[in-house]
Amino acid sequence: MTALRAPVLAAGLAAVLALLTGCVPAEDSSPSPSTTAAAPDPSEDATSLPVPSQSPKAAKKKDDKAPRAREDHTNPASIGVVVNKLRPLVPLDYHPGDLRRPAVSIGTGGESALLRDAVADATEKMFSAAAADGAPMVMVSGFRSYATQVDTYNHWVRQHGSEAAADMISARPGYSEHQTGLSMDVGDSTGACNLQQCFADTAAGIWLANNAVRFGFIIRYSPGEEDVTGYSPEPWHLRYVGKKVAGKMAQRNINSLEEYFGLPGAPGYS
Ligand SMILES: [Zn+2]
Repeated sequence: MTALRAPVLAAGLAAVLALLTGCVPAEDSSPSPSTTAAAPDPSEDATSLPVPSQSPKAAKKKDDKAPRAREDHTNPASIGVVVNKLRPLVPLDYHPGDLRRPAVSIGTGGESALLRDAVADATEKMFSAAAADGAPMVMVSGFRSYATQVDTYNHWVRQHGSEAAADMISARPGYSEHQTGLSMDVGDSTGACNLQQCFADTAAGIWLANNAVRFGFIIRYSPGEEDVTGYSPEPWHLRYVGKKVAGKMAQRNINSLEEYFGLPGAPGYS
């Protein structure tokens, strides 16, 4: 087993702290939620970023028009993709081709500061609107590659001695929604409740619950949906689905993508 990379160790420490406080981020154990201004990180340089594989024309498409069929729940490049414990990414090591760093306050570096282009656009608009309303926010974690998730998950298997125990706090590689580049974790400007349930009571958390839909985001893991989504509530974890789907879900008072798209619930791995 190779040595853990520094970000994973940092993530481990953060998650251990979370354990000590009784708050265990279910899917979000890998990010290193630095809550201050983004620390300089050499890996943020564009030289280490993936090269977009889409044509410039395709990459310019925004919102619901991007990318490809929006109702395709299996294609990981579709904004309609549904990833859960029964629906891994196909291929497992899918890597988006149009990742970029949004121009917002970001408390992390490297790949986790990236989102898909259309999601980054929506994020910039949303963070700007939130700040104007007195609810400044920080992006805590965005994209997470398959390789990072392998390191993170293996760390937790070693830490707890079994996959069953690791599954309680970390997504298996290829099963994290963060790997789509359509999801991010958000914190408030103080970072006091990052990746904790109390985020829901911060100004940022309240603002998101009321307004994220206007920018095409949903809060992916809601209270009372554990048997459907497979995860404990995460008021900080947003998923971009486009304004149309987000609006319809809100209209119909549906919280989970599984229910909205008529897909089976995924309380655990098969
Ligand atoms: Zn998350």
